[in-house]
Amino acid sequence: MYSNKAMEKTREILKEKGVKPSIQRIKIFKCLMCDGDHPTAKDIYGRVSKEIPTLSKTTIYNTVKLFADKGILKPIRIREGEVRYDIKADLHAHFRCNKCGNLFDLNEKFLIKEKEEIDGHLIEEKCVCYSGICKDCRKEDGF
Ligand SMILES: [Zn+2]
Ligand SMILES: [Zn+2]
Repeated sequence: MYSNKAMEKTREILKEKGVKPSIQRIKIFKCLMCDGDHPTAKDIYGRVSKEIPTLSKTTIYNTVKLFADKGILKPIRIREGEVRYDIKADLHAHFRCNKCGNLFDLNEKFLIKEKEEIDGHLIEEKCVCYSGICKDCRKEDGF
């Protein structure tokens, strides 16, 4: 359940970032916030359209683009042709499971240096992603 208080908080965050907090935007934000699993735009559409059946895919795409422009979320490209969205703005590394495809946040912050330049290259985007078999899949496999 998303309480009124949480709703109000979301409204504040959006306003702070210069985004008009419409009900659609609040729901999309909430979806990213609560699930924390780096959904794709398609995933978000699937979830939010259950609550707002009139919602169009275009609205989702426009909203995630707006959120990204305002620094509310970060698009992450782990695989070719797949963009996922991350609401956690601080630098963190990811782990992608080769079996179930889930993307996990890793709390190993030291992996990403706060440098803006390395070996003379200007850093514009930082992403560190490990891949392998996630803990859930390992359990299933009897490890
Ligand atoms: Zn897995
Ligand atoms: Zn993340």
